[in-house]
Amino acid sequence: MAQNLFVKCKECGTIIERKKYAENNDVCNVCDSYGTLDYKKRLAMVIDHDTFEETNIHTGFYNPIDFPGYLEKHEKIKSKTGLTEAIVTGKACINEQKVMIGIMDTRYMMGSMGIIVGEKVTRLFEDAKKLKYPVIIFTASGGARMQEGIFSLMQMAKTAAAVSSFGESGGLYISVLTNPTTGGVSASFAFLGDIIVAEPGALIGFAGKRVIEQTINEVLPPNFQTSEYLFEHGYIDMIVERKTLKDTLGQILKIHSQEENQIFQ
Ligand SMILES: [Zn+2]
Repeated sequence: MAQNLFVKCKECGTIIERKKYAENNDVCNVCDSYGTLDYKKRLAMVIDHDTFEETNIHTGFYNPIDFPGYLEKHEKIKSKTGLTEAIVTGKACINEQKVMIGIMDTRYMMGSMGIIVGEKVTRLFEDAKKLKYPVIIFTASGGARMQEGIFSLMQMAKTAAAVSSFGESGGLYISVLTNPTTGGVSASFAFLGDIIVAEPGALIGFAGKRVIEQTINEVLPPNFQTSEYLFEHGYIDMIVERKTLKDTLGQILKIHSQEENQIFQ
């Protein structure tokens, strides 16, 4: 019971009342570090109440290279979380504006990208193109999914092509990078947004810091691969706190949805 009433901040170790923590959008009130959100909490935080309609629901399972133990892992996560993949997609409204939205959930295999994630991201952009809705994706990923080998890597090209086609039709894509956004996801659709937003303090990068240090034989700064470092170096357009995220997204959508700005064909 006590465990359910309180949460412990992973950064500073402060014990916080769960209710207060939730009211503060799962942000520690002592050190300001951000907790990981599941897709339901993320939706509740950024969309208008009760406007989510899930699309491309997928309940099947593929094991393209017969990776040992993959199905068992899938079944275990599914029974624990209800998730059947690392991304949930759908239609929703943000400040009364329609969007197609995708939310990655790290509870499913570290939010890694395999065939189904690639397909769902692709369909999200295809649906948005047809409906002439903007796209917002919240990324949280450890990268390409090891268990699907080369098929995971192919999703980088596939999703990048879908973003490109959507962009050519005039659609707006806002990418929101959250902790962590790494590997094949950062190297594909995460960094292809027309506008790239990040949450404060998020780990964002391609390869791990230690791997890069060993490769280039140099010591990297301590804040390397954080939202703040990437913002300073021009990779990110804005860092937005959770408490203002919905309104910021709403404003961006509004600016780009005015009739005179519409360039859909
Ligand atoms: Zn803390």
